[in-house]
Amino acid sequence: MKTTTDPDIALVEEIAHTSVADCYQCGKCSAGCPQGQKMDRLPSTLIRMVQYGDVVEASRSAAVWQCVSCLTCSARCPKSVDIAGVLDALKQISIRRKTVHANYQRTVAFQKAFLEILRRNGRTNELEMVVLYKTLGFFGDVSTNPLRSIPSALKDAHLGPAMLLKGKLHVKLGGPLKDKALVRRIFKKCEKKVES
Ligand code: SF4
Ligand code: SF4
Repeated sequence: MKTTTDPDIALVEEIAHTSVADCYQCGKCSAGCPQGQKMDRLPSTLIRMVQYGDVVEASRSAAVWQCVSCLTCSARCPKSVDIAGVLDALKQISIRRKTVHANYQRTVAFQKAFLEILRRNGRTNELEMVVLYKTLGFFGDVSTNPLRSIPSALKDAHLGPAMLLKGKLHVKLGGPLKDKALVRRIFKKCEKKVES
């Protein structure tokens, strides 16, 4: 594994536990990617950008969020580059540096809402999660696309009462969780790993 002095490349390699310098641009990762046709930049292009130290621009790509983490690219790479790991690292960097592609702000809001509810309760609660997701999405839209904020927040509201009546939206938790402290410890450990 070759080493780099570029701090951004080093950060990607540290998060992904892989060496981007090993890539020789054969294109096998992009050829096998099931999401490739939808992506604004192919996986091999993103690897090339990271090789050149263009990490921030790579993290702005929609492709980072279009990746479904199927790991086909990593399995196909003749140089054992963990491409899926690199895309995951770019996701993390885009959240830290606020470079998430405008179309995927809501994906981030959903993930934040899901994790926050899990941290609080140790399991998901659909109603609580919908409220938190809509709130985070609304404030995200206010700063990035104000015209979309209110229509997006109200988009599915009409479905709520019908879902409640049909028992498709659960208001109560499924029962007390035995060890909430354990869940908190897991979160703390993961957060420490991300910060370090
Ligand atoms: S398959 Fe591996 S070596 Fe080939 S372009 Fe993708 S990352 Fe580079
Ligand atoms: S992990 Fe992502 S980039 Fe790799 S093949 Fe699957 S969808 Fe494509």
